[in-house]
Amino acid sequence: MNETLTSPIANEPPAAVAQPVPPQVAPTVVPAATPAVAPPADAAASALGVVPVAAPAAVSTATMVSEVGSTLSQSVGLVRVAAFVCATITVWIAYFLWRPPAPMLFLRHTEHMGRETPAISINFDDAPHPVMTPLLLAALNRADAKATFFVIGDSLRLYPELARRIVQEGHTLANHSQNHHNLSRQSPTIFKSEIEPCFAAIRRTYKDAGVPMTTRLFRPPGGGMNRPLMQYLYDHDIELAWWSNNMGDWAKPPAWKIADQVNANLRPGDIILLHDTPGGYGTPQAIPAIVRAARRQNLKAIAMPEKGAL
Ligand SMILES: [Zn+2]
Repeated sequence: MNETLTSPIANEPPAAVAQPVPPQVAPTVVPAATPAVAPPADAAASALGVVPVAAPAAVSTATMVSEVGSTLSQSVGLVRVAAFVCATITVWIAYFLWRPPAPMLFLRHTEHMGRETPAISINFDDAPHPVMTPLLLAALNRADAKATFFVIGDSLRLYPELARRIVQEGHTLANHSQNHHNLSRQSPTIFKSEIEPCFAAIRRTYKDAGVPMTTRLFRPPGGGMNRPLMQYLYDHDIELAWWSNNMGDWAKPPAWKIADQVNANLRPGDIILLHDTPGGYGTPQAIPAIVRAARRQNLKAIAMPEKGAL
């Protein structure tokens, strides 16, 4: 320790002596002296452990600021990407949880026949029924209107002559399942047995009646839909038949109420949902008023087309 301290001090006197001789030498000596003095300063500083930090600290602060800046800009970019991913995931979750009819966007289906179509289509679900179906047919005949009957396969088995009469009078049949279970609450394993036998019974009815027609229209009982059922319909090229005018006649309201509410919302291309409900006598009685209101708008009452336009 003593040797290191004495050696710089021993070098000082010659440097001090050189200063007064040429004034021009002084600037050359000063920069030369700085590195010459610096090692002992570093040595002393390293001994103290304070000074060496000061000189590089000024440089590293600037670099640190720029590094922090670049890190911040990178993290802002990451936040944007994360926000985009979160928004996309949220939209998809919302889509999968959305209840019908919204998820039908990706399924071929019919809500109405196209608003430019100069027609309406009256549908009767839950057909046939031995008392109500003849009343509905009589009302349609009086009004000179055609309609579509969404039949239950099991009722078709019980009343095949009614189904034949429906098609022979110029109306059409469509599938309303075999046993009228709400399929959204059933296992997907029964979809096939609830849908296909009804299509087969309809084909037999057309064949027996000598009417060269068939159908791929299906309306789920109670409007019960879920994703597996939508997938089944899509995979089997079945057209989901929805509706655009539904006043709830299954609750058996009086005829004037049915006609008033249907007609109040009547628009071109409407698919009007009514029912072949036992005891629902207001429905056949309301048909002439509905057909008259449609005619006033130059709309014809027709059977539901197999491929309705959205
Ligand atoms: Zn039904």
